Formats: sequence, C-alpha cells, structure tokens
Amino acid sequence: MYDAIIVGGGPAAYSASLNLKIRNKSLLVFAGNEKTTGLMKAPQIDNYLGMPGISGTELLEAYKRHAEEMEVEIRKEKIYNILNMGDYFALNSGSEFYEARSIIIAAGHAKFKYFEGEREYLGRGVGYCATCDGPLYRNKSAAIISENEEGEEEANYLSEICSQVYYIPTYNHKTKLREGIKMIEEKVLGIYGNEVKADTLKLSDSQLNVDVIFIIRNVLPVNQLIEGLELEDGSIRVDRSMATNIPGIFACGDCTGKPYQIAKAVGEGNVAALSAVKYLDTVI
Ligand SMILES: Cc1cc2nc3c(=O)[nH]c(=O)nc-3n(C[C@H](O)[C@H](O)[C@H](O)COP(=O)(O)OP(=O)(O)OC[C@H]3O[C@@H](n4cnc5c(N)ncnc54)[C@H](O)[C@@H]3O)c2cc1C
Repeated sequence: MYDAIIVGGGPAAYSASLNLKIRNKSLLVFAGNEKTTGLMKAPQIDNYLGMPGISGTELLEAYKRHAEEMEVEIRKEKIYNILNMGDYFALNSGSEFYEARSIIIAAGHAKFKYFEGEREYLGRGVGYCATCDGPLYRNKSAAIISENEEGEEEANYLSEICSQVYYIPTYNHKTKLREGIKMIEEKVLGIYGNEVKADTLKLSDSQLNVDVIFIIRNVLPVNQLIEGLELEDGSIRVDRSMATNIPGIFACGDCTGKPYQIAKAVGEGNVAALSAVKYLDTVI
C-alpha cells in the first residue's frame, strides 16, 4: 500500500512527486505514454520563469531527471480506472492492481471529440482498455480505433484471443501489426448498435459488424477514471487545496481547467502534494 499514487506524466505530476518525496511519503508515478504528452510538441517556451527558450522536450526531460534523482519510481503504464475502497483506493493499470491511501490526478487535458455512440455504448460493447476487457471477447471479433501506437500492442494481444481483429489508426502510423490483423485506413463516422450493446462501426467507406470496439485514447476522459468525480465545464472541480469532491483524491494541472500553462501545472502540483500530505496525516 502506497501513501500516494500520481496519475500523469507532465509538469503537474513531477512537481507533486518531488514534494511527496521530500515529505517522506511512499509513492508511485504512473506517467503513461510520454510521447503523447502535449508538452513534447512545444518547440520553444518563453513564459516559464528562469528558462527562456527551452523546448518542451528538454523541460520534460529535466523534470523527469529531477524526479529520478530524488528516487521517485516512475512507471510508463496508464491507469484505466480507480476504485474507491473506503479507506484506500485500488488502481487498475490493465494488467495489475495497485493500492494507495491517496491519489493525485495530473492527467492533463483530454482534447478530443467523442465519436457518435461512444458515450452511449461505453461499457456495452465499447471500452478504452483491450488488456482489461479483451478476455471477455475470446473467439469474438474486435475493432480497435487508436490515437497512438499503444493500440498496436493492444491489437497484437487481441489477435491471440479474438477470431478477427480490425485496426483503425487515427495517427500517422508505421504499424507493427501481427499477420491476420486487418488494418483499415478510413475515417470513423460512428458507433451504432441495438438496445443492449454496440455492434456496428461505421467508417467512411465501409461498415464493420463486430462484438466489441476499443478506443485507445492519448488521454482518457477524467470522469471515466473514478465514479462520482465531479466536473465543472469538463474539468475536475477542485478547491484551493486541489481537493476534489472525493476525500483523498486531489487533482492538478490542465485537468483542473484553464489556463493551460506549465507554471500553473507546477504550482498546482506542489499544492496538491502538500494537501495530500495533510490528508495522510489525518488518516494514518
Ligand atoms: C504545442 C504546445 C505548446 C505549448 N506551449 C506552452 C508554452 O509555451 N507555455 C506554457 O506555459 N504552456 C504551454 N503549453 C501547455 C502546457 O504544455 C500544459 O499546460 C502543461 O503541459 C500541463 O501540464 P500537466 O502536467 O497538467 O499535463 P500534461 O503535460 O498534459 O501531462 C499529462 C500526462 O499524463 C499522462 N496521462 C494522462 N492520462 C493518464 C492515465 N490515465 N494514466 C497514466 N498517465 C496518464 C499523459 O500521457 C501525459 O503524459 C503548450 C502545449 C502544447 C500542446
């Protein structure tokens, strides 16, 4: 059982990690896929104090190096959901569960439009994690729509258990797919189905009738992470201590809303960590 688990791999997450470490808390950072971090695409940053002209990649590397030098344990896995167990939380990384007394969500801002039918059928033939839910579709057909190369691993895994796997990449791809997986380079128009579950994926030039559709997103919608998390204008609602409406869960950075800026993310990460320390002092 960790004192705290941080979900995210950007400025807010690394800032929070340092402050938890300095306060002697046991912690893990789940950074996900760093190639999908928006900051990596910033060629030059001029509004971050003391580091004029630094690139996003350099800054992120510096943050990570700092955290590693402080012996913060960083995992590249993604967290798919968090279960509230009362006096602790269980986090699902797809293949494993982890436990923590407090959580800091620093998952950034999800910039995407839902596909038609995605929200309606979520949990009913539509999912965000093939590793988690794939075994339910043994010998059935599956489609994977993916925003990044993580989807290729998921498709390769599904090809071992499903009768047919279709792969629809929405990124610039050089795919490493196993034989037998059918790649379709078409635009996704929507997900349709019957009253019980989704069964059809409409594409620009074709239609797939499948048992399940997995959507691999760069950033998961934050309200999918944990049931009951309150949002405000699509961002996580927090107070000045970065506390969410769920005791023990704090949030910081772009996922709490505008302005989407590094300095705000770093500052909120600091506050969230100190608030988590205060919370832990009351529950341990
Ligand atoms: C092109 C570009 C240029 C920019 N230029 C500037 C600038 O000049 N100045 C400035 O101040 N800001 C700039 N920004 C904004 C800045 O990058 C963000 O405000 C900042 O990175 C937010 O930090 P964050 O830690 O909240 O989120 P992010 O940096 O978005 O990091 C979130 C991380 O969490 C990971 N993650 C998400 N969900 C999960 C999960 N479920 N499990 C595990 N990991 C997860 C993501 O993969 C990502 O790595 C720019 C952004 C872009 C895209």
